[in-house]
Amino acid sequence: MSESNNHLRDAFRAAGRRMTRQRRVVLRVLEESDGHLEAEAVYLRAMAHDTHVSLATVYRTLAVLKEMGLVEEHRLGEEHGHYEAVRKGPHYHFTCLGCGKVIEFDTPLVAQIEQELSARERVRVTGTHLHMSGYYAQCQTKTGGQSNNEK
Ligand SMILES: [Zn+2]
Ligand SMILES: [Zn+2]
Repeated sequence: MSESNNHLRDAFRAAGRRMTRQRRVVLRVLEESDGHLEAEAVYLRAMAHDTHVSLATVYRTLAVLKEMGLVEEHRLGEEHGHYEAVRKGPHYHFTCLGCGKVIEFDTPLVAQIEQELSARERVRVTGTHLHMSGYYAQCQTKTGGQSNNEK
């Protein structure tokens, strides 16, 4: 625990930022969750650790942590962001449109595509975002399949 705190302090120092209590709390909330939390969910959980935190602070803190590369934001097919702590390698997401469950997956095919693209177009790929969506079998029957009534 203290070791990871030192680690964090170094990361903040390197970025020329202070490790405030709010930043530590927000990061901890994301690390303790499965990730993919919306800002409001981060806020509710952060309140359990620190009652002084506000939703505006959480938004600001998430932006700082994202800029520092400690937090990733995924849209997951929605207008608002979902946040997760960067603690594992790159991975991709599938969202069930019925129940909202998010699956993480990885595949060597993505590295292959990146290599092919780099070689063909002479570019350096620094990030890949892949998001799939669809339905679990049981969610499909519940919603009666694809519906068009949602814009
Ligand atoms: Zn579902
Ligand atoms: Zn994820």
